[in-house]
Amino acid sequence: MQRQPHSLADATVPPFWYLLPVTTKKRIAIIPGDGIGREVIPVAVKVIEATGAPVELSEFDWGAERYLKDGVTVPPDGFTMLGRDFDAILVGAFGDPRVKTNIHAKEILLGMRFKMDLYANVRPVRLLDASLCPLKGVDPKDIDFVAVRENTEGVYTDAGGVFKQGTPDEIATQEDINTRKGVERIIRYAFEYCERHKKQDGSPRRKVLMCDKSNAMTHAGGLWQRVFHEVSREYPQITAEHMYVDALCMQMVRDPRQFDVIVTNNMFGDIITDLAAGLQGGLGMAASGNIHPGKTSMFEPVHGSAPTIAGKNMANPFGAILTAAMMLGHLGLSGEAEKIEAAVLAAVREKRTTVDVGGPLGTREAGEWVNKKLAS
Ligand code: ATP
Repeated sequence: MQRQPHSLADATVPPFWYLLPVTTKKRIAIIPGDGIGREVIPVAVKVIEATGAPVELSEFDWGAERYLKDGVTVPPDGFTMLGRDFDAILVGAFGDPRVKTNIHAKEILLGMRFKMDLYANVRPVRLLDASLCPLKGVDPKDIDFVAVRENTEGVYTDAGGVFKQGTPDEIATQEDINTRKGVERIIRYAFEYCERHKKQDGSPRRKVLMCDKSNAMTHAGGLWQRVFHEVSREYPQITAEHMYVDALCMQMVRDPRQFDVIVTNNMFGDIITDLAAGLQGGLGMAASGNIHPGKTSMFEPVHGSAPTIAGKNMANPFGAILTAAMMLGHLGLSGEAEKIEAAVLAAVREKRTTVDVGGPLGTREAGEWVNKKLAS
């Protein structure tokens, strides 16, 4: 009887692929971008590597430097490639004084959010140590909430226009785009997030608060209000509350303990999370994820490219490092994520930080301290 070589039925001769290792590494695209992004992302990458996480990292040079060299912001099919070949993307920041139009930042960052449909911008707001917070007598566990910002609509769609520009009759309009689909999915995301994520102390999250300005923006706000009430009925175990954005800003400073999960539109999310970053120790401490469940998601520190401090080894790398931890957690590597968070917490408590949060170290040195802590 003639046998087919390497037939599956032949138990004595294993086929060649039987001997190949199974690849389970998470593929991560790294895009440092501009300004301090080019300093904090390399530090965050070293921290990821120090955890020994099973990852494969590939760096891309998208940003101002590349744009000024060859006019390319995003290479052809760049977003398709990211979605197809990677499990996650770690981004620094975009913005360079040499590119006055900021066109590259718009095309890369907003392009990623819009074209990859990363509709949920998730920004955890956690106070690691009382010394970081400008509020008096605060207990770190009192500040532990999450802002869920709609990321693909609102005023960021650039709808609108200018008429009779440069004349006394000039008219400018800026449209606030709110779709039923967009509003419903972000509100549902917030309730799901609330149901599935615990607070740092292990207690369950219990409340979703929707923030808008529906008393002035009645059409868009009306849609948000209706959808919020509808979706909240599907989650009777979660308390649903509402606050106007102006009141929320005041309450966030007066008593941040009352917040748990906040859901809001693109612009209010942008604004209130800078305020919230102030409670955590400033922009240098804040992390974020741009998420579409089940698709390749993108993670970036909340801060921008901060050109005034770029290139000086001054930028706080902890926002980027905590962002890397958030990304690893999202990829199912929660052990590595927790180790990174613990090392950053130790650095803050021992004042092994950059100047903006009261320490004596530079960007690289703060990262090295975290890596030593991870190795100890
Ligand atoms: P964008 O418009 O992209 O948000 P921006 O210039 O408004 O950018 P950032 O680039 O985030 O805002 O920075 C504003 C200021 O905050 C900086 O000039 C700097 O003083 C401070 N800052 C931001 N990020 C950091 C950081 N990682 N470490 C220390 N200071 C920072």
